[in-house]
Amino acid sequence: MKYYDKLIFELSREGRCGFSLPRNRYPAAPELPAAVRRSLALNLPEVSEPDVVRHYTNLSQMNFGVDTGFYPLGSCTMKYNPKIDEEIASLPGFASLHPLEEDALVPGIRKVYEKMNEALSAITGMHAFTFAPCAGAHGELTGLMIMRQYHMSRGDWARTKVIVPDSAHGTNPASAAVCGLQVVQVKSLENGRIDVEALKPLLDNTVAGIMMTNPNTLGLFETQIKEIASLVHGAGGLLYYDGANMNPLMGVVRPGDMGFDIMHLNLHKTFSTPHGGGGPGSGPVGVAAHLEGCLKELRVSGFHGNFGVILKAYAYILSLGKDHIKKVGQYSVLGANYIKESLKDVYKLPIEGVCKHEFVFDGLINDGAREGVSGATTLDVAKRLLDYGFHAPTIYFPLLFHQAIMIEPTETESKETLDAFIEVMRKIAAEAAEDPNILHGAPHNTPISRPDETAAARNPILKYQDTL
Ligand SMILES: *Cc1c(COP(=O)(O)O)cnc(C)c1O
Repeated sequence: MKYYDKLIFELSREGRCGFSLPRNRYPAAPELPAAVRRSLALNLPEVSEPDVVRHYTNLSQMNFGVDTGFYPLGSCTMKYNPKIDEEIASLPGFASLHPLEEDALVPGIRKVYEKMNEALSAITGMHAFTFAPCAGAHGELTGLMIMRQYHMSRGDWARTKVIVPDSAHGTNPASAAVCGLQVVQVKSLENGRIDVEALKPLLDNTVAGIMMTNPNTLGLFETQIKEIASLVHGAGGLLYYDGANMNPLMGVVRPGDMGFDIMHLNLHKTFSTPHGGGGPGSGPVGVAAHLEGCLKELRVSGFHGNFGVILKAYAYILSLGKDHIKKVGQYSVLGANYIKESLKDVYKLPIEGVCKHEFVFDGLINDGAREGVSGATTLDVAKRLLDYGFHAPTIYFPLLFHQAIMIEPTETESKETLDAFIEVMRKIAAEAAEDPNILHGAPHNTPISRPDETAAARNPILKYQDTL
């Protein structure tokens, strides 16, 4: 352990001080009566200024972040979040607005919403958006409420079923259930796409619609989308598009043109706000022209959603422009395929072929298992990556494979970074084949090794506990 990894309470020495306040120019305030005063024994650490700075700087480096290294997290992804967009969102004219400000006094803000509505409609092929939902799952719920409202407004009360593929993100069936709809699963084929023959018998007059992700969570494009759309529409249902990860399609293909009626986007993923920091987020919902009326009656959050996130997305879209926005997807697809092809002789690739922005391996080809030694798992590989300075990919999702490793390289990563990652992944595969025990104990070089992640999230210890 490095000296400054110590807790700040352990660095404390009586009488040491890290600040000097200006002398008080005003007469002393009268003393508070003893009855309302707290005890003065607060037991605060007494440390010098450099001690404090080093303590917090060291703490900030004990975690992994996009600013310290490559972060190939599939699906819930770290896309590129330009720092300039953060700066724009923190301009005082935006950041210090009051949510109850009179509309007439902030025409510029209304303009941002109008322009974003135009931009997202152009990118997705939808007709109009609401910016009220504050997360992807919140967008799904909003979209499904629109779907239900559409059927009910036509007196079509029997439509209570939503079809969800087995490869779907977990929020899809969860949102449908929260919306009071019944979830029916449709299975995937060996090639990772929806089984259209299995879908057909599910399509009756109780179907409200289908929820799809395209490219799906395996990073594969649903090539039969046109046929699926006409089957679902033919049966009187609607198509919902989970656009959380819209990056591979932007400027190339539009959900509206594929036949989708309702969709959400995750601005906090695809459009310049990191996902996974616990918020704030924004999950705008777009609808086709025939559903625009349903948007007007919705109230799913206070005010108009998370304006700062919407503003960053607007800055991001403007900075790319029509000509460059498609490069986001093209580079992420190129990067993902490059990594996949460079590693598929040492990691199991369950579905061959060109992927979109991400792909899934199913563990190691040679996990090193032998007499008395268990093989290296996907968790072991993910932990070992930390020793080499890379964040782990998404693991054990999607659930279609037992040892899933889902890799998505951010589109802005250089070829040199991708090569360095490939080299390390190959090195780890070689280690596993030679002695899987090296991997079982990983990570070896991080401040903590393998915490119980569930317990850590459920019962975090947020204050100093004197263990002496
Ligand atoms: C992240 C994600 C969601 C959910 O978004 P949240 O903002 O976390 O609620 C839904 N679908 C897919 C495919 C996602 O990747």
